[in-house]
Amino acid sequence: LVRLRARLARSQNSLGKGLLTLLSREHLDEDTWEEIEETLLTADVGVKPTQELVDRLRERVKVLGTRTPQDLRSLLREELLTLVGTDFDRVVKTESAADTPGVVMVVGVNGTGKTTTTGKLARVLVADGRSVVLGAADTFRAAAADQLQTWGERVGARTVRGPEGGDPASIAFDAVKEGIAEGADVVLIDTAGRLHTKTGLMDELGKVKRVVEKHGPLDEVLLVLDATTGQNGLMQARVFAEVVDITGIVLTKLDGTAKGGIVVAVQRELGVPVKLVGLGEGPDDLAPFEPEAFVDALIG
Ligand code: GDP
Repeated sequence: LVRLRARLARSQNSLGKGLLTLLSREHLDEDTWEEIEETLLTADVGVKPTQELVDRLRERVKVLGTRTPQDLRSLLREELLTLVGTDFDRVVKTESAADTPGVVMVVGVNGTGKTTTTGKLARVLVADGRSVVLGAADTFRAAAADQLQTWGERVGARTVRGPEGGDPASIAFDAVKEGIAEGADVVLIDTAGRLHTKTGLMDELGKVKRVVEKHGPLDEVLLVLDATTGQNGLMQARVFAEVVDITGIVLTKLDGTAKGGIVVAVQRELGVPVKLVGLGEGPDDLAPFEPEAFVDALIG
């Protein structure tokens, strides 16, 4: 965890540090406020949240009087925490309400890190003593099923897969069936993310959802977004949210960007919390999203 924090801090702190430096200027003139705004926009915080934060900061700095570094730091910390949100339930739901395994569907555009995230999540669950079945329903990308199976073998989870180009819904159905037969605790289903036609995606994910629900409730739908893709990622999020009810967001490749503001933007966009973050390609590089640790990493 310490290592993850350090990595997050390395990649993120240009935003918070930049803001602190700007707020510490002797004269907080209009140009400086504009620079603060720019810093936030560049970090992908989004237009509205940026405006809100700048308004709040202006107001609070005005009543501060003397601006000691300590004052500024705690003020910025509070406001960033408010922006990121501390009231969301960020727990990934892997327990079923029914007497069946918890079922988690992982969706997102290819290349965002869906399969890797599914594997890492399996690892966390198995380490926690839960038995996991993986469903390789990404039959679009040729290597996806092999990749997932490799993860499964590595962490000790059985992978249910079908023929290449086979029907994702039938694999998802089989995976849940297998999970029930084995008395598994959790079934994780990796899906394909073809975005070129919305109806195609809708048909496919809708069908996966429907067949899974024949066995019991779908407990969590995680949308995987690549944090380095900025506005593009937000557009993807919008399309997926129209197609299926997203219950949580996984932001991957947060290690590869200083644009941590995407956390704020995507939560606003979907009204759904970031629950997990990917901080690298390795098996241990998936972490629960903790607002306080995140904001502390931002400020450095
Ligand atoms: P999928 O097509 O969405 O299933 O994507 P993959 O799981 O195959 O991941 C695509 C690439 O992104 C792979 O090279 C992964 O190792 C890499 N990747 C996934 N998550 C992360 C992350 O959190 N950080 C970094 N740096 N790379 C990641």
